[in-house]
Amino acid sequence: MQKQHDIVIIGAGIVGLSIANLLAELPLSIAIVEAHEVAEWNSEEYSLRVSAISTASQQTLTKAGAWPHIAKQRISIYSDMRIWEKAINASEALHFSSNDVGTESLGCIVENALIRSELKTSLNNNELHKAKITWYCPDQLSSIEVFETHAEIQLQSEIQLKAKLVIAADGANSVTRKSLNLSEVSRSHAQFGVVAQLKTEKPHHQTAYQRFYDQDVLGILPLANGDCSMVWSCSQTKAEKLLNLSDEQLGDEISDFNQGILGDITVAQSAQIFPLQLLHSRQYVSERVVLCGDAAHAVHPLAGQGLNLGLLDAAVLADVLIDAWKANFDLGDLSLLRQYERKRKGNNVQMMTVLDSLLAVFQSTNPVLQQARRFGMGLLNQVRPLKNTLIEQALGLKKL
Ligand SMILES: Cc1cc2nc3c(=O)[nH]c(=O)nc-3n(C[C@H](O)[C@H](O)[C@H](O)COP(=O)(O)OP(=O)(O)OC[C@H]3O[C@@H](n4cnc5c(N)ncnc54)[C@H](O)[C@@H]3O)c2cc1C
Repeated sequence: MQKQHDIVIIGAGIVGLSIANLLAELPLSIAIVEAHEVAEWNSEEYSLRVSAISTASQQTLTKAGAWPHIAKQRISIYSDMRIWEKAINASEALHFSSNDVGTESLGCIVENALIRSELKTSLNNNELHKAKITWYCPDQLSSIEVFETHAEIQLQSEIQLKAKLVIAADGANSVTRKSLNLSEVSRSHAQFGVVAQLKTEKPHHQTAYQRFYDQDVLGILPLANGDCSMVWSCSQTKAEKLLNLSDEQLGDEISDFNQGILGDITVAQSAQIFPLQLLHSRQYVSERVVLCGDAAHAVHPLAGQGLNLGLLDAAVLADVLIDAWKANFDLGDLSLLRQYERKRKGNNVQMMTVLDSLLAVFQSTNPVLQQARRFGMGLLNQVRPLKNTLIEQALGLKKL
């Protein structure tokens, strides 16, 4: 069976759903192909996967019709961030504060499941939008073939889709990217993220904490119910070791690692492990296909930037396509899609370079670099303009 649409979006993660909402204002037929049902958010439970959402991402989610509903449900604003490393004490941590840049917050911590659920509701609740969207879910892209005037997508269900443009938002393992042989630079640091929800003896004071120690990075984010969310990035061996600890032992391990800054820690929701895929596609576009979000670039979670970069991709791609539609252009034309690539690739590469450099500096065992690092953190704490520039970049309001 063959079905025809103007645009097919592969993947209804946060990036794919945001693009669908942003494009739904156009009188186009849009198909969404998603492997798994998008679950409704459950307010009774705190879901384990959360993201630090920047101000720029909040703006994109507002345009997509979802942010006011997300903000009403459950978000945790964080106003401060403390970063420190092996050689220094928590009290000497590098301190970033929203007060320094005159904003209310540095961002919000939100459950991924809540964002996805509200983006889906935003599509379904708008009768005009709903009429333009066709869901193929659960279903999966199994192959794609590109012709001069259109692309053909074979789904696992045997349905074949024909469209002028395919937007691949199918995550770091993107089958679309692989089917088209778009080569990627794998930047794997062979690391894993151990994620858990924690109860802490001391209040988190709306502060995000991050400690670097040898090859490990421990990030602790404040949640709205007073708990914290942890991502401990480490080697596979270490991650498996952490996962095999009892909840009590893991709590003690986290508390020691964090130099007791949040007092005694107990594990509220048992840990799960996520492989950290670090890659960058050499091309974001080819004839009639465009890659967005993790399908194009997957970064280390140390600065909580992966989804924020993906939402910037979504916003820019939607703007390019809406302008092109108004000018009556072919939406799958490569020269048009290259406008999007030009606008996003440089910015993403710069952010990845900064993250890689941060990791290299913090994970270095070179004594000279260690000394310089300690000095540099002290210095950065004193140099307000430089610190403020870094905060504005993290908020997504200033380009690197
Ligand atoms: C531990 C951890 C913590 C993180 N913390 C942060 C943070 O604080 N802030 C931040 O900005 N980022 C963070 N990130 C990164 C962030 O989670 C990702 O960048 C983001 O989820 C990518 O969204 P996406 O929509 O591009 O891809 P995904 O979320 O991977 O969605 C892809 C979708 O495509 C579907 N799919 C895949 N293949 C197919 C197929 N063949 N056919 C149909 N559907 C398919 C999948 O089912 C999925 O729904 C973190 C990542 C990790 C691992």
